[in-house]
Amino acid sequence: MEANTAALPQESRQPSEHDLDVLSRQLGRPVRDVVEIPARCVCGNPLVAATAPRLSNGTPFPTTFYLTHPVITSAVSRLEAAGLMNRMNDRLSAEPDLAESYRGAHESYLQARDQIAERSGTGAVPEIAGVSAGGMPTRVKCLHVLVGHSLAAGPGVNPLGDEALEAISEWWTKDRCYCDGAWDTEGEAPSRDLSRHGPQGLPGIVGRPAPVRKSKTPEDTTAETTEERP
Ligand SMILES: [Zn+2]
Repeated sequence: MEANTAALPQESRQPSEHDLDVLSRQLGRPVRDVVEIPARCVCGNPLVAATAPRLSNGTPFPTTFYLTHPVITSAVSRLEAAGLMNRMNDRLSAEPDLAESYRGAHESYLQARDQIAERSGTGAVPEIAGVSAGGMPTRVKCLHVLVGHSLAAGPGVNPLGDEALEAISEWWTKDRCYCDGAWDTEGEAPSRDLSRHGPQGLPGIVGRPAPVRKSKTPEDTTAETTEERP
């Protein structure tokens, strides 16, 4: 496994007020329970938000890394629309080495989440023990999750997230800033007054619909495919 060179040092992971504002603009809605910024654009803007494994309303939350940059999310949606997940799933069945390293990505995801839980003071969240996201450890159900993980962990941790990043290099690469015009920077950011918003978390638990992503194939429309929102 390669050195984890892309992971940010601890001090730059701390979300500032400005980061939270940018995240809300990137997503077009207020964010909540974001505890770290594990990946940033070369300009400093967030690419990925890390959400506490237990939300402040008590809901267990398995999707630790959430891709927020609109340029990357739409590029990854194009890959999904082009059927890349089906091809990856076929390969996971046919290539034991890939399956093994993908299981390793799952383990690494859980480990990273435990560390975030510790740093953020969430404590253990037994309800989601062993549960990662995106279809790991055996399937690919949301490429956005895998790409978010790859950006957070750095190259060499999530093989399929790394492949997806390579596949979007026509639209986004980590060495360049693509932020200009990627989200609305005028006016107020979406309000972070959470009182008007219901709980977000596991759709199965709180009954909220998953965010709409383009390109779900019929087999990817189950509740399990949902990428939970921070
Ligand atoms: Zn930028």
